[in-house]
Amino acid sequence: MRARPLVRCVDVGSSPALLTHGGAGGWSRERAEKAVRVVKAAAEAGWRKLLELVEPLDAVAVAVKHLEDSGVLNAGRGSVLTLNGIVEMDAGLMDSNGVVGAVAAVRRIANPILAALIVARETPHVLMASVGAEKLAEAFGVRLHPGPLPERVAAAHLRRRRERDRLLLRLWLEKAGLAPADTVGAVARYEGLVAAGTSTGGVSFKLEGRVGDTPIPGAGFYASRRVACSATGIGEAILADMVCLRIAEGYGDSGLEGAVEGVLRRFGERHPRASVGVITVSSSGEACIGVYNAAMPYALMAEGIREAGICGEAR
Ligand code: ASP
Repeated sequence: MRARPLVRCVDVGSSPALLTHGGAGGWSRERAEKAVRVVKAAAEAGWRKLLELVEPLDAVAVAVKHLEDSGVLNAGRGSVLTLNGIVEMDAGLMDSNGVVGAVAAVRRIANPILAALIVARETPHVLMASVGAEKLAEAFGVRLHPGPLPERVAAAHLRRRRERDRLLLRLWLEKAGLAPADTVGAVARYEGLVAAGTSTGGVSFKLEGRVGDTPIPGAGFYASRRVACSATGIGEAILADMVCLRIAEGYGDSGLEGAVEGVLRRFGERHPRASVGVITVSSSGEACIGVYNAAMPYALMAEGIREAGICGEAR
C-alpha cells in the first residue's frame, strides 16, 4: 500500500513564527528523542533572534547554524560522508524579498548556512560551489569544519565501507534507494516577511561531487512573497519535483495546508519509494509540517505556542 502524506498545520495568527526540522527519514525512538531536543533548542535560538526584530533570514540562519553545530544531525559538524569518506555539504537560504544564496559541495567550512548567507548578501551570485565558496566564506570569517568527526559518523562510515562493493552496484541501479538522513532546516515569519534555509551533508554514501536539492532554490528551500519552505528527503526526487517552489506556487484558496498536501500527494504518486518532509510558513500565519513516507523531528515557536515532536512515526 502506498504511504499517504501526513500534514499538520497550526494557525499562528499575527504572531512571528519560527520552525525547525531535523530531517526526513526512518528514525529510531532513541535517536528521534535526541533530535527533537536539538530542533527545539535551535528553534528557541532562532526565535530569540527573531524577537530582536532582525530580518527573518537572520533568524533562519541562526537556527540552522545551531543545528549544524549540534553534531547530532546531518549538517555541518554531523555531516555524513561521501563514498570516499569525505564531508561534502550543501546549504541555501532565501527570503520573500528575493534575497537568495546557496553553496554546494563545500568541504572545509563549519557552517555552510553562513556561507550561503554571505553569497546572498555579499555577492551578485546565487549558487557557489566547492573551493570558491570555501574561500569566500573564509574571507568573511566563517569557521573551518572542526575535526575529528563525531564517533557516530566515523563508525557508521567504517561499517558502510565494508559493504561498499556490494552496495555500489545497487546504488547505481536503484537511485531511489539513497538514504536521506537528519538534514536540517528552518523557516521564519515576521510580520509580512518570510524566510527559509536548509543545510545538509547530503545522502550518505553518495558519490563525490553529487549535489542534491538542498542548495537549489525552489527544490530544497524557497521563499515567495507569501510562503517560505524548507525540504528534506531524497534530493533527486525533490529536485525533479521542485517541491518548495511547487508549494509556494500552489498556495491559493485551499491555504498552505492544501498546497502542502497536494504537493506531497503528487510527490508520492511520482516517487512512491522516495521520501520527503517539509516545514512551511505563510506570511498570513499558517505554519505546516508535512511528510511523505518518512518521519521528521520538528519544532514550532510562536506567541503562546511551543511545540516539538515527530511528524510521522518513529520506528
Ligand atoms: N535532501 C538531502 C539531499 O538529498 C538529504 C536529506 O534531506 O536528508 O542531499
